[in-house]
Amino acid sequence: MPETRLRFPPSPTGYLHIGGARTALYNWLYAKKTGGTLVLRIEDTDVDRSTRESIDGIIDGLTWLGISWDEGPYFQSEFSDDHRAAAERLLAEGHAYRCFCTKEELDNKREIALAEKKQFGYDGTCRNLTAEEISSKTAAGIPSVIRFKVPEREGKIGYDDKVLGRIESSYREIDDFVIVRSNSQPLYLLCNVTDDIRDRITHIIRGQDHMTNTIKQLLLYEALSAPVPEFAHIPLTLDVKKAKISKRSHGEIVAVQFYRDHGFIPWALNNFLVLLGWSPGDDREIFSRDELIEAFTLERINRSASIFNYKKGDPKFFTDPKAIAINEHYLRTMAIEELAPMVADELRAEALWDEAYGDDKQQWFFNTLGLIRSRFHTINDFSSMGRAYFADDYVIEQKPLNKNLLKFPELAQWLPELADRYEASEEFSAEETERLAREIAESHGLPPGVIINGMRTVVTGQLAGPSMFDILLAIGRERVVQRLRKTPELYS
Ligand code: GLU
Repeated sequence: MPETRLRFPPSPTGYLHIGGARTALYNWLYAKKTGGTLVLRIEDTDVDRSTRESIDGIIDGLTWLGISWDEGPYFQSEFSDDHRAAAERLLAEGHAYRCFCTKEELDNKREIALAEKKQFGYDGTCRNLTAEEISSKTAAGIPSVIRFKVPEREGKIGYDDKVLGRIESSYREIDDFVIVRSNSQPLYLLCNVTDDIRDRITHIIRGQDHMTNTIKQLLLYEALSAPVPEFAHIPLTLDVKKAKISKRSHGEIVAVQFYRDHGFIPWALNNFLVLLGWSPGDDREIFSRDELIEAFTLERINRSASIFNYKKGDPKFFTDPKAIAINEHYLRTMAIEELAPMVADELRAEALWDEAYGDDKQQWFFNTLGLIRSRFHTINDFSSMGRAYFADDYVIEQKPLNKNLLKFPELAQWLPELADRYEASEEFSAEETERLAREIAESHGLPPGVIINGMRTVVTGQLAGPSMFDILLAIGRERVVQRLRKTPELYS
């Protein structure tokens, strides 16, 4: 099989959108699957809209996701000679022509077409100008664009889309499109093809919003005598109301950065994104990197739009519940050794990190993560819901405070009493701490649950969590005793 060469060519005009990340992921997967090469090309020819910040954001986002490229980043703006040369060649070989029609003239014609309910297309006014006409207009300083000369052919042009099957358009429906602006700036359609030819791209996987470009670009490949790559157009991602997801209407949740800030595990986000528009053909939803590379095929990309299941303002979910569920799956089942560095970064960022967690307290750190992760959703939960394990200034949440503590004024006395027993006991094991807690409850004639729930509130600040007696061991005798002794303060 000939070498496969893919590309991800973002325009650096904003943040890395999850739709863009999904496109990058599909290209990456296909490159990995076929042992091919992925080229990262920053399409920065629109100087007014391209920013350094956006380039950095895209590169950081891809790096965080683990979507690696084999060549680049190339910058499209550095290849403007190639773009101009391609335009010159098309002109010289009769595949393009100079058009001197002004914007006003074109606007007028568009309005007339509109009034007559006809579709507006360039009418070819400048298509057959003589060499003399062209030089006299040029000499007179009349600005011109360069248009591609769509061949006058009957029939259709088309390609076999890897996802959508045969796609065709009749030549007559294609306008002579502009490839170079009057300020000599080559346009996207031409730059993109010129670069794909130079970079020897064999497969183009991109959004369905590019399909009208593809038809025109087929003509450019032909005119430049270059082999046409395979195309796979992937479905758009829409929201539950079938509207395109964008930052303007949906806010930060459409940016990769949002998931990073909210404590997503990078691979979990990839796993979620791949399922937005592709399925393995069976009911599997969780894939390791290698399993996904093995399972991924272009043919199994969905034809219809994928739905990003998010309702703005729904307080239950801060993003698509499936994304959260997949993240939870990884967070709760991955090897602790892999999880630990991510939690360490989070604790560092929140000034909760103790160097000993990476050193002589590493076993404790690993055990604690293993204990507390079972109810967590994101990495950030380790520093918020799990704060009591790493610091003494944790928050006692209002709900458990009311429900499990303030309702039982006698706990203000019994929990410190339990603290005394814990301090004095020979052993501080799960069995012994449980026995002592039950003993206190019994001696005061209350169900043990009252003592245990009260203790959970005081020691962790949370309503629920892992087994209380495992928690006590993780937090350690000294801290537990101190915390239980302070119970009366919570009643004031
Ligand atoms: N720069 C274009 C974009 O970001 C590239 C599209 C493509 O050809 O894949 O939409």
